[in-house]
Amino acid sequence: MSSEVTELTAAAAAERVRGGELSAAELFEAWRERASGDSLGAYLWLAGEAPGSINSDGPLGGVPLAVKDLFCTEGIPSAAGSRILEGYRPPYTATVVERLTEAGAPTLGKTNMDEFAMGSSNENSGFGPVKNPWDESRVPGGSSGGSAAAVAAGLAPWAIGTDTGGSIRQPAALCGIVGLKPTYGACSRYGMIAFASSLDQAGPLTRNVTDCALLFGQMIGRDPRDSTSLDFPEKLTLPTADRLDGLSFGVPPELSGEGIEPGVREVFEETLARIEDLGGQVVEVALPHSNEAISAYYLIAPAEASANLARFDGVRYGARAQNGDLLSMYEETREQGFGDEVKRRILIGTYALSSGYYEALYGRALRVRTKIAQDFRAAFERVDLIVTPTSPTVAFGLGERTDDPLAMYLSDFCTVPMPLAGIPAISIPGGLADGLPVGIQLAGPAFSEGKILDAAYALEQAIGFDGSSARHA
Ligand code: GLN
Repeated sequence: MSSEVTELTAAAAAERVRGGELSAAELFEAWRERASGDSLGAYLWLAGEAPGSINSDGPLGGVPLAVKDLFCTEGIPSAAGSRILEGYRPPYTATVVERLTEAGAPTLGKTNMDEFAMGSSNENSGFGPVKNPWDESRVPGGSSGGSAAAVAAGLAPWAIGTDTGGSIRQPAALCGIVGLKPTYGACSRYGMIAFASSLDQAGPLTRNVTDCALLFGQMIGRDPRDSTSLDFPEKLTLPTADRLDGLSFGVPPELSGEGIEPGVREVFEETLARIEDLGGQVVEVALPHSNEAISAYYLIAPAEASANLARFDGVRYGARAQNGDLLSMYEETREQGFGDEVKRRILIGTYALSSGYYEALYGRALRVRTKIAQDFRAAFERVDLIVTPTSPTVAFGLGERTDDPLAMYLSDFCTVPMPLAGIPAISIPGGLADGLPVGIQLAGPAFSEGKILDAAYALEQAIGFDGSSARHA
């Protein structure tokens, strides 16, 4: 019974619960049992039992949700993968989690992640790495590595994560699942532990595009507690398209040529052929400033992080070092509580914002950001969507890039331009290279999620990717 219901997609399970064929409490228990067998390190906290009340009549039908540790959840440990927040139990819940719970998706557990969402491999977690269910000697990607691995391994029906420079799309790609980074402002950031506030967005990680659309539809909308959130301008329905007629897809050579490993390029080219088979038109478009995106991102994101992380002082939240006077207590807490990557970012960010360097570093990065947004605007005058590989490589080995931050940063090469421009992008599995999943990214103008999900759905049906081997690993 339990193994059977956990085989269902989230949308199918929701349908059964709403139809009265399955009880939400039973479904929760079946998933709890699956999740408690986690040997990948995907979960940091797991619910002890089903919550007293589940809105099983809601649109999400009582299907439990894995939540990235970055979201505040009332009374439940929320540490954003950091030792400095160990033991912190927030007095309130993030808006998106609250909305999803109300819509019928109770929290199943909190998932592992790179500390403060800084990373591309989950190896920067203060609580240990996560293994990729396709090959346990490899990383799941990051920073939402726990959410991605949990869904791919069948330890959660669906999950949410956050994406600042690729943290939903890249782990989704490396784990063979679907991940959507929404338009900036589509989802409230209230209760998300901040990394880089002008880039951070919450979004779904799911087994397929239908589950993604279903979950996303309940995350969106203006929240009075986040002044950067907006009402979604159109009604979202579940995708049904089976053709791509009338849609044009731009391929930017800057993000699909040099640096993309051969196996990934092969799957990418097969996907372009499929798009044409389905009636879509494939054309080349230029995104001339893409090569500068990584440099701009790795100034802007650390600059914002250095300000956001100033609040962790051992007084207001989580862990506190016991050491002498007040100043040494601050210093000791931050010294012990933050990992190396977080310290690196605080140093880079503080440096980039310091007087004398502000204009030369931060100011210039902002100008590059504007150019990148302009590139996309120009491209979307010619094409409906942009298609690229999600990650230049398939999942890499644990430990392979930990000593080389620059190599690690290049993992985000294809995903960083979109958040800089505030636009939405999805990653769907395109196929396998050497037995490992390859993600295909579709990006569109702000608030084009409906179109992106429709196109992704048509493509998904044609690709027929089978992720079941990872679920039974
Ligand atoms: N890997 C990128 C970084 O380390 C992106 C992280 C993210 O999107 N949160 O900053």
